[in-house]
Amino acid sequence: MVLYNTLTRQREEFHPLKDNTVRIYSCGPTVYNYAHIGNLRTYIFMDLLRRALKAEGYSLRHVMNITDVGHLTSDGDEGEDKMAKTAREQKKTPLEIAEYYTSVFFKDLDRLHIDRPEIIAKATEHINEMLDFVVALDKKGFAYETSDGIYFDISKFPQYGMLSRISLEDQQAGARVEVNGEKRHPADFALWKKAPKEHIMQWESPWGMGYPGWHIECSAMGLKYLGEYFDIHTGGVDHIPIHHENEIAQTCGLLGHPAAKIWMHGEFMLVDGGKMSKSLKNTYTVDQLIEKGYSPLDFRYFCLNAHYRQKLNFTFEGMDAAKKSLRNLRSALQKHKNAPHSESDERIKELERRFSEAVADDLNIPKSLGVIWEAARNPVKDGRIFDFAVKADSVLALDLDCCEPEEETVDDALKTHIEELIALRAAAKKEKNYAEADRIRNQLQSEGVALKDTPQGTTYTVL
Ligand code: AMP
Ligand code: ZN
Repeated sequence: MVLYNTLTRQREEFHPLKDNTVRIYSCGPTVYNYAHIGNLRTYIFMDLLRRALKAEGYSLRHVMNITDVGHLTSDGDEGEDKMAKTAREQKKTPLEIAEYYTSVFFKDLDRLHIDRPEIIAKATEHINEMLDFVVALDKKGFAYETSDGIYFDISKFPQYGMLSRISLEDQQAGARVEVNGEKRHPADFALWKKAPKEHIMQWESPWGMGYPGWHIECSAMGLKYLGEYFDIHTGGVDHIPIHHENEIAQTCGLLGHPAAKIWMHGEFMLVDGGKMSKSLKNTYTVDQLIEKGYSPLDFRYFCLNAHYRQKLNFTFEGMDAAKKSLRNLRSALQKHKNAPHSESDERIKELERRFSEAVADDLNIPKSLGVIWEAARNPVKDGRIFDFAVKADSVLALDLDCCEPEEETVDDALKTHIEELIALRAAAKKEKNYAEADRIRNQLQSEGVALKDTPQGTTYTVL
């Protein structure tokens, strides 16, 4: 198997460091809000990595953190703790906020067929491990105290920037106007923050009451569950220049070397060619996709069409196409189910081999999907092609064995779906959003549902 390592900028032959078990750490969500489809793309990438490694015969020991403290609203160690801010705004405790958004996150993972890592580690349950780490760094001379916290002194770690390949001088030149005048270097980062009295989450420390910095949690929990050396660390590309650089600095400070051998990063999801952001109202959730008539697996299929190191542009046209394709793929595979073994053994073996090779080639899932399509369209029908697709589905997880009904009936689920869309369309019309109203009509049309507006309201027929 070959994997791309951001640290070396090379594709590397993969072999686990120890026995047959692959040790992985994945940066998990900050649970102060719903995960959006961009976040979820990164977890689909993480899941594909898991499934690909399992298909290669490896066992996994995989840790993912849940950030429920320490992630501030600004990456520059300023601003409010994201959990505390949401708790204040929603008049709840940080624990309630964390529990709610964590449970929705796991529901999303389940719906997208993202397997859960073996170990889920909450930051608030590892405060002691983080404190031990910070104390040890301080003892080794990598930390200094300011009036608001304990900071990592990157001048003590000249290799800082090894992951993003941005030198210390460039860090200095590119730094925004420095807010915290007590920091020795703009890229120094908080290991521990001192808590003002009114701060809602705080723990005792050698420096008084406070709370951990965001980066220390991943270094501390990685060390606890995976040891001084582990195989793979994952996250989104936005983590390369700050969060992962800081993790490496902390770990190298304590251990003298980075803990993870391979650093893998999922590229970003864009929307309509641009950035996804709350102010642009283009940060969709899985629930919103479902409301618009897509299944979570339509979205998974959409993601699987791009390599994890490519940017992926989200559009609803793309989702429509994904939905249709997934349906067609399943139907085409059904034609092979239980068919006599009429194809040659070589052809079946060749398809299996090409599928596995694509997956093992730095997770070339788009290529592996192409092999499944080729198999599905194979002119000779053969039950072994269906069986091959089902086996391949242990990696793709698209319910490829799912039998699409030949003719849709107005069963309860469909009825609810149509009625929800009709209600959405009525609301759009009321707001004079005719483009949206037309879009919903067209979507229903493409799903085989014709609408008729009558003085009594909208009626429909399933074609
Ligand atoms: P957060 O909860 O903000 O820490 O983010 C969770 C994960 O989502 C991180 O691994 C981020 O790198 C990733 N992420 C954030 N925005 C996007 C995006 N637009 N596309 C893909 N991944 C993203
Ligand atoms: Zn992390």
